[in-house]
Amino acid sequence: MDRRTLLKLGGMGLVGAGLGGCSARSAAPTRGPAPQPRRPPLQLAPVRADWDRVIRTTVGLRPHRPSGFVLRADRLDDTTVIHNYGHGGSGMSLSWGTGRMAAEMALAHDSRRAAVVGCGAVGLTAARQLQRRGFAVTIYAMSVPPNTTSNMSFAGFTPTAGLVDRDLRTPAWDAQFREAAEISYRELQLLAGRGFGVSWIDRYGLTDTPPGAAGDDAEEDREPLLPAHLSTGEFTLGPGEHPFPSRYAVRRNHLRIEPSIYLDALVRDFIDFGGRIEIRKFDEPRELAALSEPLVVNCTGLGARELFGDDELTPAKGQLTVLLPQADVDWGIQGGPPDGAPRGVLGVHMQPRSDGIVLGGTSERGVWSREPNQEAMRLIVSAHMAVYSAMRV
Ligand SMILES: Cc1cc2nc3c(=O)[nH]c(=O)nc-3n(C[C@H](O)[C@H](O)[C@H](O)COP(=O)(O)OP(=O)(O)OC[C@H]3O[C@@H](n4cnc5c(N)ncnc54)[C@H](O)[C@@H]3O)c2cc1C
Repeated sequence: MDRRTLLKLGGMGLVGAGLGGCSARSAAPTRGPAPQPRRPPLQLAPVRADWDRVIRTTVGLRPHRPSGFVLRADRLDDTTVIHNYGHGGSGMSLSWGTGRMAAEMALAHDSRRAAVVGCGAVGLTAARQLQRRGFAVTIYAMSVPPNTTSNMSFAGFTPTAGLVDRDLRTPAWDAQFREAAEISYRELQLLAGRGFGVSWIDRYGLTDTPPGAAGDDAEEDREPLLPAHLSTGEFTLGPGEHPFPSRYAVRRNHLRIEPSIYLDALVRDFIDFGGRIEIRKFDEPRELAALSEPLVVNCTGLGARELFGDDELTPAKGQLTVLLPQADVDWGIQGGPPDGAPRGVLGVHMQPRSDGIVLGGTSERGVWSREPNQEAMRLIVSAHMAVYSAMRV
């Protein structure tokens, strides 16, 4: 791709804070004289984005349900089944919360022996919440980390209402969502600095529109569903105060999860507290009813479509391209999609981790393929290259 194309991608819709509260979209450029800088410009270590630093592209299928995740108890013959699945693009963010709510439902049962089906973020955190309440727990799963969708996650704290279609929301579901988000926010904070791969970084939303101005997409799209205190430290840097090729950079405190560290640490914790993991695939619900545990928590993610016939579940394919790690990069970005991006390209997102610099992001609903979308990959990596090469350092 030539330099002119790269600059076009970079000058684009790399605007509009996205995921985690604001949608990703282009903003109209503002006119008039550029305001004078008020503070010394922010210094950030630049990302070295180049094709020869790309080490992998991964694909995961988010378990999307237009009416949101399922969290409820059912009967299956003599077995109680508590469903806890369908977290879409927010499972890493919400799982401690829905796990606690599922475990509290389980307390209504006389038995303190439980099976959890699924060993992604949702299953592991539900299992830990059950153990904390005195349950002996076995996890049954056909795949375990590093081979779960949870391992393929960008994994920021992004409990966005994007996981549910606006017109399908109900007050009861909204209340569950808020409770789950509150619980998870607190739980994740308490894991920071304790070897779980959870930490705080600064994330910059790049926009050309003054934040808060009429017509500011980011402000209009702020999710009313999410309690405001779950997004902290918002601060706008104006022209000349930041190194990015946008007029404004909106900094927020952001909880980052590193999936490979996090999921392995959860597995270790689960086993240290007496948990057992059995590799097993279930083809029908009656196989669950035949387990020795009288209580089953269903955390099968997208697998619940086939296992329980939930046709509302659909994949939202997401892919991430990873660059070689850079220890000096401790900040992330969230920008809108490049100009002319096809459907499914959500925006230009970057999150550094110890196993690489992760570039996103896409969401292709209804697509089951686990093959990387090469066109989207080229577009997103090129847009990132354009941003970092245009940064003032
Ligand atoms: C590219 C991408 C970016 C993302 N970014 C974020 C983000 O920034 N923040 C966020 O919060 N979330 C994000 N997500 C979403 C998040 O990854 C998912 O919501 C989460 O991983 C779902 O977890 P889960 O445990 O339900 O599913 P999974 O991780 O898929 O686990 C399901 C488990 O159930 C087991 N299972 C399924 N069916 C059966 C069966 N029949 N028998 C036995 N076992 C079965 C599987 O083997 C597996 O162990 C992202 C996802 C992707 C792909």
